[in-house]
Amino acid sequence: MNINENNKEIADSQNVAVGDDWYKLSNKKICSILETNPQTGLSNQEAKLRLEKYGKNNLPKSKKPNWFIIFLKSFLDPLSLIMILSGLASGLVSAISKKIETVDITGLVIIAIIVLTNSIIATIQEIKSLNQVANLNENKQFAIVLRNSKKIEVNIEELVPGDIIFVNSGGFVPADTRIIDNQLLRIDESALTGENEPVKKISDSIKDKNLMLGDQKNIAFMSTLVIEGKMMGVIFGTGKESEIGKIANKITSHKPEKTPLEKKVTLLTAIIGLTSIILGLILFLTAWFLKDSIHPSSGGRADIKNLLLVAVSAAISLIPESLTIIVKICLMVATKKMARKNVIIKNPKSIETLGNVNVICSDKTGTLTQNKMTVDKIFIDFVEKDFKDFDKVKYKELINCISLCSDAIVEKEKIGSATEIATIEFIKKFDINYIKMRKNYERIDEIPFDSKRKLMSTLNNVDGKEMIYVKGAVDYLSNICTNKFINGKVTPLTEDDRNILNEQLYKFAKSGLRVLGFAQKEYKNPKDPYESNLIFLGCVAIIDPPREEVKKSVEEAKKGGIRVIMITGDHKITAFEIASRLGIADEVFDGVLTGQDINELSREELKQRLKRTNVFARVNPEHKALIVDLLQEDKNIVAMTGDGVNDAPSLVKADVGISMGITGTEVAKSVSDVILADDNFKSIISGVNSGRNVYEKIKYSISFLLAANISQIITLLLILLINKDIALNSVNILFHIFIIETIVAVPIGMQKERKGVMKNPPPTTKSESLLKGIWVQMIITTLFNTLFAVLNYQIAVWWFGYGTESSLAFGKTGVYMAIMYSPIFYSILYNNFFLPIRATKTICDVDKYRPNKWLLILMAVAFVVTSLTLIPVGVINDFFDFTTIGLNPILAMIFFINSLLPTVFIYFTYKLVFKWI
Ligand code: ATP
Repeated sequence: MNINENNKEIADSQNVAVGDDWYKLSNKKICSILETNPQTGLSNQEAKLRLEKYGKNNLPKSKKPNWFIIFLKSFLDPLSLIMILSGLASGLVSAISKKIETVDITGLVIIAIIVLTNSIIATIQEIKSLNQVANLNENKQFAIVLRNSKKIEVNIEELVPGDIIFVNSGGFVPADTRIIDNQLLRIDESALTGENEPVKKISDSIKDKNLMLGDQKNIAFMSTLVIEGKMMGVIFGTGKESEIGKIANKITSHKPEKTPLEKKVTLLTAIIGLTSIILGLILFLTAWFLKDSIHPSSGGRADIKNLLLVAVSAAISLIPESLTIIVKICLMVATKKMARKNVIIKNPKSIETLGNVNVICSDKTGTLTQNKMTVDKIFIDFVEKDFKDFDKVKYKELINCISLCSDAIVEKEKIGSATEIATIEFIKKFDINYIKMRKNYERIDEIPFDSKRKLMSTLNNVDGKEMIYVKGAVDYLSNICTNKFINGKVTPLTEDDRNILNEQLYKFAKSGLRVLGFAQKEYKNPKDPYESNLIFLGCVAIIDPPREEVKKSVEEAKKGGIRVIMITGDHKITAFEIASRLGIADEVFDGVLTGQDINELSREELKQRLKRTNVFARVNPEHKALIVDLLQEDKNIVAMTGDGVNDAPSLVKADVGISMGITGTEVAKSVSDVILADDNFKSIISGVNSGRNVYEKIKYSISFLLAANISQIITLLLILLINKDIALNSVNILFHIFIIETIVAVPIGMQKERKGVMKNPPPTTKSESLLKGIWVQMIITTLFNTLFAVLNYQIAVWWFGYGTESSLAFGKTGVYMAIMYSPIFYSILYNNFFLPIRATKTICDVDKYRPNKWLLILMAVAFVVTSLTLIPVGVINDFFDFTTIGLNPILAMIFFINSLLPTVFIYFTYKLVFKWI
């Protein structure tokens, strides 16, 4: 952007400073330099031209990750290092023993293939996840801008110098902007200046020279945050020409941190790594101890080099190398799936936490309700009226208040809060031109709505009189009213009137309506606060129906052991009514607490009440933070929704902070872990479902991998002890890792999500072991896999006689077939079929079972590749040593059937054990 240079000429001729000195110029001069008009804004055509000229209003993107460096780094992964070292060790042993054979070189080649495959997958995953983070940062955001005299919403990327923009409290400033008008504006500039205290801003020019950014009080800088009040301004610096853009240029890459689950998996792998060394050592020592009795016919197996090689390979094979990759895949697949279901995960860590959540604290408006508000009833002159009796002349005062004390615009596009839009839509039905009224009765001052006061006030010039208009929650408003407007006359608001009002409020609220009151006064005494001594004008009751799908989601949550709490700013009765309709308030949780009740209770009392209260009404954001705090003290894992600036502390405090994509302020979005693109409570539940599925899939993968790997090492040990033979060579063992871990185990993480996870309580606490609930299936699988592998060997012994050359050769082939084929077949049981032992109702539900297509494809690939290694000819056979199997089709058939049988046995035994448990 070089608007500064472009206008330097004009500026110089006018003898004013530009560039860093925008704060010195008067509003008028700035607009003339930027060739814009604060009343009309730029024309669409001009904005388009400027966009072409100055480019998009984007911050410089962080540098793209270099795939080669990521690839190289992946070799530093501890598991790859172990494998490389053990490969080198086995090579070294061969070299020392000066008997380098084909088999040893093959061992090295296979290790190289595995390490390379792992590294390639890790690199692809890492690049994908980095790109995903980058895409998230590109989330679309919109700003309100004046173009062709109309306020419209545009993507902030399309803002150009000269655009007149409007930012309200809770919004981010979309570009460097000179403030030309503001109301009680305070901006948090900590992102830019590091100063924590929000800065009070002004709209006048400043004479001083060389001011620091923090002292340029009439400038709103890009990416800073409007904490209070609102502003109108003219943009002068966009994209990389903005102050934050200059800083962003220096920011480089972003490294995603490991999630707790990834950390747990790394720890587990490390423990297994240690165990594997011990087991390898046991295997080696046993073989060493028995070395004199090992069959001489087994081709020098008693050789220390061979023993070492087998022990090292077996030890490596125990480590579930692909687990970290599976975790990454699971998290990535879940992030993508969730985005499709309107749940945008900002931080992968929150997927797991979402799965563990046992309390969800949800806002009411928009999340549990539709946020499609319509005025349903009116209460004027202290009676409920029909719409047909609404007389626009008679109720002129009320109409003024509705039109003027509001920022909503209801034209082709609707801008503003749903509550205000509903009231404007209501008066529009009576042909009231609220826009014209706002022009004629200029707003002089205002106090914006905030969820603490639950009121909004404006000061307008109405036909020469200064009028205060206030609207807000009726119970708050009536407290500051002293008079009422009734049949065109002002009379005192008596105790009886208040009772009538309260009764009416109760009646509306009981029908689930939200009630908004209106009041006014003439502003005669400047010392008099705006929000006092008002004249009550009437109220409207707004219907905001609950979202249809939410009732089912609440039910689902309850079944899944999750408690749903409603926290709202709305009236207690309205809140309770909606909560009852949605099943949030029920026989167990039948209490309601208001913000006032909370203030009166001690911390301990509140903690007790919290145990039976699911509805919190008329609360402030501070109460929300307190509720999260107390729930967490009771060891709950809490998800909390929020949309306002003031919700930020509770969103940060909650285990999962969830902000609203549509109604949420930028602050809420920036501090939350998850954004709901559709603001819908149902999406939270799909998020929980995905989170639980991720956890479950990882458990499946762990039990699958461990069972296959442990079976292999135990089979080796057993055959060594029984038959004094080493049944697998190092190439066989390493090939097992390659096929089972890299090809068969990975799609377990890509299986379809299972709805059944929501039928159980949350799967884990923060400290639960990853192995909890999967022991049974792991033991059963290991048992049958090992049993049939050893059986194959023993059949060969029985067939050919103990110690014969054929028994050794066929036995080895039989073991290899069982060890390789069995996991390929029973992997299908781990694909959504086996459930962790808790999932009592849905285990092995054959009818509903649909295997994942990726698993089927990869099973077929694994099957074909494994079968190729059995072909007793040529190079393959040199590597794998299977010279015999083709010579005896009957035995080959028996071995094959024995490789299939573990799947059947595992299935039925698991079912039996399951029933028994
Ligand atoms: P949630 O349920 O999402 O917490 P809510 O909309 O119920 O939000 P608030 O936005 O804090 O809660 O509103 C509380 C009350 O303030 C409403 O019941 C209504 O009477 C009043 N109110 C809401 N919006 C406005 C507004 N723009 N101006 C004045 N009063 C408002």
